Amino acid sequence: MVSALKDKKIVEIAEKALSKYKLCDHCLGRLFAMVEHGFTNEERGEKLRRNLKQYRKIEIKDCWLCSGLFNEIRHFADIISEHLNDYEFETFLVGSKTDEEILDREQELLEFADPEYSEPLKTELNREIGKILEKESDKKVDFENPNIMAVIDTSFDVVNLQIKPLYIYGRYNKYKRDIPQTRWFCRVCRGKGCRKCNYTGKMYETSVEELIARRVLEKTRGDGESFHGCGREDIDVCMLGNGRPFVLEIKNPKIRSLDLDQLEEEINERAEGKIKVNNLHFSSKIEIARIKSADFKKLYRVTFAGEKAINKEKLKKVVQTLQGKTISQFTPSRVARRRVNIVRDRKIYNLNIELIDGATATLTIETQSGTYIKELISGDDGRTRPSISEMIEVPCKVTELDVMEIKGE
Ligand SMILES: [Zn+2]
Ligand SMILES: [Zn+2]
Repeated sequence: MVSALKDKKIVEIAEKALSKYKLCDHCLGRLFAMVEHGFTNEERGEKLRRNLKQYRKIEIKDCWLCSGLFNEIRHFADIISEHLNDYEFETFLVGSKTDEEILDREQELLEFADPEYSEPLKTELNREIGKILEKESDKKVDFENPNIMAVIDTSFDVVNLQIKPLYIYGRYNKYKRDIPQTRWFCRVCRGKGCRKCNYTGKMYETSVEELIARRVLEKTRGDGESFHGCGREDIDVCMLGNGRPFVLEIKNPKIRSLDLDQLEEEINERAEGKIKVNNLHFSSKIEIARIKSADFKKLYRVTFAGEKAINKEKLKKVVQTLQGKTISQFTPSRVARRRVNIVRDRKIYNLNIELIDGATATLTIETQSGTYIKELISGDDGRTRPSISEMIEVPCKVTELDVMEIKGE
């Protein structure tokens, strides 16, 4: 088989380029990177040059285009490798920044070549550095989704690492009524620490987020974290049953391989019964979007107290009437400062009476995601309609609320 590099058109382009510019074999061969596979650009350049006998070999350091850049591949691989030493990873990708002048010269040269035949200088540089790193470690180049992207600035020998966050999915239970889901900064000092917050910077001593993330940060030696919950319960609401889905995002982790069963045990042990996690597994950014937008049905148990005794028959009737009904909830007064004021329609799927005792009653309620249960009971001064208080004609207030189950996950 005759090499495609001997094609008349290819030889003509090569000759034209070499008659005007001194090019090393890398830079000559790269003009025809797409012509024939199975060779490096350097090998292609050498073949072409040999065919055109009147042109002698140009040393890389004397190359008009790269002026020695391809002599430094080994050096670039070494400094990247040094930076990667601190990190555990399986896959990586090399990127590079080069002199503007080199890129300008590359543009000029490309006017001779057919863009269909050639590839950019950076592509070759990145690939050749990547090959060395692959060979000298057991790590693999990944173009789509690398654990680490290492970008080398070839003019200054500076390496910039972009570390892919580590995502861990799990479900949490919360057994104490005074713990917010996420860290809540002090309203006065906004986290700096002041007398009001006892110099903690926080409104509450701890949070579900902190109780979970602390151990994970220690193990991964990450720089920070974000907690993404599939909705949230109020501070005074327990999260029971199978727990609430969440994804914990660890930023710049140095360690990525974790024994998640062990981690689960350690988190739970340290949380001393305040919270518990289960079902931990490695996850992705896509899963955050999924659980954030999920519209899972929720099952609650709610205990409420009326201003006077609750009529059993009346409550039974009301519970029947509300089955399958849609209620309208104007943004509750207690969250109005944080949420937009709109009317939300929410479906009530199921209600059951567990207990009626004088002025106290306990119900289980299955509703559409996003229903405000406290307001469904109280009516929130007419903002939620209909409400249990309105229908039984006794003003009621929630005394205890638990999420029993998040369905559909
Ligand atoms: Zn060159
Ligand atoms: Zn403060």
